[in-house]
Amino acid sequence: MSLLEIKGLRIQYVTDDGIVKAVNGIDLTLDAGETLGLVGETGAGKTTTALSILGMIQCPPGEIVEGEILFEGQDLLKMSKKELRKIRGRKISMIFQDPMTALNPLERVGDQIAEGIKEHRKCTLREAHIEALKILEMVGIPAERASDYPHQFSGGMKQRVVIAIALACNPILLLADEPTTALDVTIQAQVLELISDLQAKLKTAMILITHDLGVVSDTCDKVAIMYAGQIVETGIWKDIYLNPCHPYTIGLFGSIPTLDKDVERLTPIEGLMPDPTNLPTGCPFHPRCPKCMEQCKSVEPKSTEISEGHFVKCLLFE
Ligand code: SF4
Repeated sequence: MSLLEIKGLRIQYVTDDGIVKAVNGIDLTLDAGETLGLVGETGAGKTTTALSILGMIQCPPGEIVEGEILFEGQDLLKMSKKELRKIRGRKISMIFQDPMTALNPLERVGDQIAEGIKEHRKCTLREAHIEALKILEMVGIPAERASDYPHQFSGGMKQRVVIAIALACNPILLLADEPTTALDVTIQAQVLELISDLQAKLKTAMILITHDLGVVSDTCDKVAIMYAGQIVETGIWKDIYLNPCHPYTIGLFGSIPTLDKDVERLTPIEGLMPDPTNLPTGCPFHPRCPKCMEQCKSVEPKSTEISEGHFVKCLLFE
């Protein structure tokens, strides 16, 4: 049994401008200790997918139309709020993108870490604080800084505090939503290394949400490429990097610089992500696809396994 299995998940938001089809029938599996990179442009549905795992899709305007999210064999979508609260922060936790908004500016960082420990481990506040100091040290912050407020930390240090909060209860699944986007490049590598080290130490599975294929190549076992709320290609790291097949994945690789090729200009993917209230018919990538055929405009591709565990959603491979 996989640790996490998402089957046919569809999520939409009902807005004044129409129905935003954010996630459109995705399937995903993740085993214990494994790392999956969920890659795609802004608006591809990555964060909505992660929030749905935590039961944090606000309804209204959000609505889970269909699908299952099986965690340790139990459907998270069928759990009560009380049952979910026992899992959230304990077995599944999330590192949010922007540490400035993830932390409470009015609470000392030690208190913010201790809060989750006290809630889930049913220990005294004093015991939770002692544990919080250990976790702060683990993420590279001296324990004496536990009584400081978030504004007294730099951006990279704040993100370390967010990581400490997420890992405080030794979760078995960590959702990291663009954990380095708000940081400058010199700090990004340090924070990613820290997450990977802690993940290996605690044997935590992770879904790393990013738009950066470089980040994924350093940290992930498996990769899923998302476009317009669908997973258009997925496989182990090597399959995606050495043999990208979907024209969108190929486009993503074409738009990043490499050190081993002398290229005059990078090749961007023409056009923009489609309006999620009005997705194209057939293959949603067809208005931007350099290999678009007539049938792509009306026939929706199915996910096809082209080698063991390597799936592509494109009519060229059916
Ligand atoms: Fe391109 Fe057609 Fe494949 Fe879609 S189905 S990615 S439009 S070739």
